[in-house]
Amino acid sequence: MSKRLGERMKCNICNELMKEETDYYICPYCSYALKRKIESKETQYKRYLAHKYDENYISYMKNLTREIDFNNKLVLDFGCGQQPCLSKIYLNSKFVNYDLFFYPNEDYKLNKYDLILIIEVIEHLENPYDVLNELTNLLKEDGKIMIHTMLYDEKTDFRNWWYTRDITHISFFKKETFAKACKRLNLKMELINGFIVLSNN
Ligand SMILES: [Zn+2]
Repeated sequence: MSKRLGERMKCNICNELMKEETDYYICPYCSYALKRKIESKETQYKRYLAHKYDENYISYMKNLTREIDFNNKLVLDFGCGQQPCLSKIYLNSKFVNYDLFFYPNEDYKLNKYDLILIIEVIEHLENPYDVLNELTNLLKEDGKIMIHTMLYDEKTDFRNWWYTRDITHISFFKKETFAKACKRLNLKMELINGFIVLSNN
């Protein structure tokens, strides 16, 4: 993060100044919320290592993605985790797995994709717009970015929400937050089966 002491925090999504609260920065324009306390990479890594990749996880992922057409696609599983399972479930697609901690090979940047999956990853990023911007450049003309994260709205009891309690979750979004990001990225946004789906206009 590029903030220096005494500088006000700018929103990574819309570039406006954020409101500084005790434990969060919150953007009054797009509702993007960023935790002020971000754990060290070591602490994050330990948390990710403790993640269980059991049958329950595999069936959760299978169920979550069951409506997606994976036929003959080049797919980037961005932030695939320690044991990427989608590439083993959908054998009719060609997968590239990338994960900052577990599959850090940046060769994924050399391809253009039909489908880029960001499943339960974006809430872990402190610069989500920058990442979306980079990934947008890796989309084929008719490609799609599919994001899965929990959105909050005006009814959410934000500070008591379980999603904000996870120490590795640092970025939180409303639907409007993504709408703002899409406007900047010149992408179209749809909500389909719990996914935020971005595609070229
Ligand atoms: Zn904003």
